[in-house]
Amino acid sequence: MSINEVARDVFLVRLPLPFALNSVNCYLLRDADGWTVFDAGLHTDAGEAAWRAALASLDVTPEAIRQIIVSHHHPDHYGMAGWLQALSGAPVLMAPREAELAAGIWGKPPDLPEPMARLFSRHGTPEDLVATITRDVALLRRATLPHPAPTPLSPGAALTMAGRRFVALHAPGHSDGQLIFFDEADGLLLCGDHLLNTITPHIGVWPGSEPNPLGRYLSSLAELAGLPVRLALPGHKSLIHTWRERVEELQRHHADRLAAVHAALDGGATAYEVARRVFLFDQYTTHEMRFAVAETIAHLEYLVDAGIVRRVEGEVVRYE
Ligand SMILES: [Zn+2]
Repeated sequence: MSINEVARDVFLVRLPLPFALNSVNCYLLRDADGWTVFDAGLHTDAGEAAWRAALASLDVTPEAIRQIIVSHHHPDHYGMAGWLQALSGAPVLMAPREAELAAGIWGKPPDLPEPMARLFSRHGTPEDLVATITRDVALLRRATLPHPAPTPLSPGAALTMAGRRFVALHAPGHSDGQLIFFDEADGLLLCGDHLLNTITPHIGVWPGSEPNPLGRYLSSLAELAGLPVRLALPGHKSLIHTWRERVEELQRHHADRLAAVHAALDGGATAYEVARRVFLFDQYTTHEMRFAVAETIAHLEYLVDAGIVRRVEGEVVRYE
């Protein structure tokens, strides 16, 4: 855990993650009447210890937390929201779509089959990897407990945090309903996982995703490219000082990846087969393999939507 004041009254709290991507950026924003927690981290013992240390080092008592905001439902951002809510009694604000996804994926009753398993099987993933994915997801699900009682927050809402006026903006692609928060007066953006430095935000098809997440992501990037962002505070890695350049790099990355996926299709293949050709699959953890396949489906679905590739439905989905 480390803490830095990255803008006046805005503190970056870096929490540990047990993945190749080994940390998540959460933020504490200070106001006279209390603190805002922005994103919660994955619920592990190390995560709890890190939050306790961070709150203690800034002299934040649980009662001084006045609200908790979750940018999107992924477990590294949502996982400790319920724990923080139980600790503080503060409301947890989330986009309704994200609350719905969290309830559907992390709140799945134990006796229902794993929707993740069905999706990956349909896309040609071998059964032993599907079984491992099912176990990985069950572990992640445990790291989202307890669930918060969310309060809906919609795009356009204005919130005072760190003495600034932030407006919630819908930033889909990484997750259908992700919200990011812009303080226009200072050009400060809490950008969740919409843009990241060094790594590209994951854009994948997951159970219950709206169609064509990559198409929605690229439209959103095009819309937000001109936003006068001086400093963006992302969900992972380093702060973003060159907004427009980073947007353009990500646009180029996806154009290249679309070309690579199209070439790897080589006439016809499943998403799993394409993922094996495009990614350094054999060097990956099973967690990363899952992301690689989901990302490949998203690129193939973009090409389907563009009329370049055809999806052939059967017991297994093939692309041609
Ligand atoms: Zn994340």
